[in-house]
Amino acid sequence: MRFHKTLIPTLREDPVDAQVVSHRLMLRAGLIRPLGSGIYTWLPLGLRVLRKVEAIVRQEMDNAGAQEVLMPAVQPAELWQESGRWDFYGKELLRFLDRHERACCFGPTHEEVISDLVRREIRSYRQLPANFYQIQTKFRDEIRPRFGIMRGREFLMKDAYSFDLDQAGLDASYQAMFAAYQRIFQRCGLAFRAVEADTGSIGGASSHEFHVLADSGEDVIISCDQCDYAANLEKAVAAEALPQEGDPAVVMEKIATPGQKSIEEVARFLKLPVQQLVKSLLVETPAGPVLLLLRGDRSLNMVKAANALNLPQVTIPDADRAAYWAGVGMGSLGPVGSRLPVVADHELRHLRNFACGANEEGWHLLNVNWQRDLPVPSFADLRNVTAGEPCARCGTGRLQRHQGIEVGHVFKLGDKYSKAMGVKVLDSQGSEQTLVMGCYGIGVSRIVAAAIEQNHDANGIRWPRSLAPFSLQLILLNPRDSGEVAAAEELYQSLRAAGVEVLLDDRDERAGVKFKDADLLGCPLRLLVGGRSFKEGMVELQSRAGDLSQKLPVGESLLPALLAVIHSSTP
Ligand code: ATP
Ligand code: MG
Repeated sequence: MRFHKTLIPTLREDPVDAQVVSHRLMLRAGLIRPLGSGIYTWLPLGLRVLRKVEAIVRQEMDNAGAQEVLMPAVQPAELWQESGRWDFYGKELLRFLDRHERACCFGPTHEEVISDLVRREIRSYRQLPANFYQIQTKFRDEIRPRFGIMRGREFLMKDAYSFDLDQAGLDASYQAMFAAYQRIFQRCGLAFRAVEADTGSIGGASSHEFHVLADSGEDVIISCDQCDYAANLEKAVAAEALPQEGDPAVVMEKIATPGQKSIEEVARFLKLPVQQLVKSLLVETPAGPVLLLLRGDRSLNMVKAANALNLPQVTIPDADRAAYWAGVGMGSLGPVGSRLPVVADHELRHLRNFACGANEEGWHLLNVNWQRDLPVPSFADLRNVTAGEPCARCGTGRLQRHQGIEVGHVFKLGDKYSKAMGVKVLDSQGSEQTLVMGCYGIGVSRIVAAAIEQNHDANGIRWPRSLAPFSLQLILLNPRDSGEVAAAEELYQSLRAAGVEVLLDDRDERAGVKFKDADLLGCPLRLLVGGRSFKEGMVELQSRAGDLSQKLPVGESLLPALLAVIHSSTP
């Protein structure tokens, strides 16, 4: 491709509203341009990268035995009503009416459509197992689209759906996808980690997310420094506290704590470590408010709270509403004498002589003890784990915290959709069996941003070889020098003929501009034709990573020498 004939609108300055490096560099390198909130046009260079990701995903899905299909982006509401998700999905689902006033949506995901296809077209167990995938544009009306294409509203996803006769079949399909995902992310040159993920209201099923490790990641992932345990924050299990030889129970006291609102203020006022305080939080459920208790220094995990209450989700009411239910401000809320249902974090099971709100404005209770002062509540894992605490899996390791970008997700759906939508086949005995499903997503466009997050420096992108828009950027230093032009032209043609993807920078620009742009665009190799080296009969080959810089003589041996380097460089 010739630079001067291609739309590569590079920017010298950082765009002001881009918060993460991948967003900044994608704009500066002219890979994308915004059209509106969370929607982007892919320009020629960006599209080349996107197509590389797509090709890797497609190859590995095909190798794993999945069949490619392309489903409609627009879906009739009836299918979503059948699965029960029309009412459940919320505002992320873009809904509209067609000219006949029929309700439709733009697909954020395709479980309903594929289930409908399979129930119509697959009749016999002999056609199983089956796994269908597509690479297609999705729309989700995200509440906070941000970081460019990392969290867009319109984005490219690979979604796959497996159908099996029984759980053992699903296990095998899931394993095949898990392995394919590992190969995909390896081939994309990404440092990634597969972590256990929450399965929400579909209890008992299993799910893993694939995260690219990056400081800008929106997700927190937890791993053990000793064993192979890794989970996202919602799923990461907190080790249960062990019974301890504590101080004997002391008489409960009521203490005035005027004006002390936050847990830290109260702890300071009472001269107690914050770990000796119990924090009371009110959450809202369809059945009414519930009081959740945590140690003073801990934070509530909303997903764990919902799971503990066996609900799809719980919400935190605003302060007025909470105070109305509790009959007291949140700063003085507590479990003693409360009429609300109480669930305590299991870390509190063995806590003695703790302090908590007295359910009276400006008062706290000291030396509170289970059973003696209040009924023993039910206990559950409610809190976010923190770095450094013991691993619940192996017991010896310590937990570590990283930021991650979720690039893929595999999920055993079981019969959630197949039951609701009647996806059945005849088994070998001739009786009807409801199928078990798995679903498997990859954020194809998000991978492009994630790859940049992991591969850049102060000057620009440093593409992994497998994703680079071009393997080599050929820089013609002086397009007015006919000798240089002829040599660059010949190299351009012969490299292309040898199957190398080359970007020829033939612009009438200063050398400095071309070098800066080459750094910004981040192709793994660059070849300079011109200047003093050229007068000496040489061209200069450099790597973007900075580990290669060599002069090669112009002549018959040049092409083989270049090809040797191009084919040997690491991914
Ligand atoms: P997230 O927690 O990031 O919102 P999700 O759980 O909603 O992700 P899935 O429904 O599992 O995501 O979708 C499959 C994959 O699609 C995700 O792993 C992610 O890589 C990608 N993806 C999801 N939402 C977006 C988005 N708004 N923009 C770009 N990629 C996305
Ligand atoms: Mg989402």
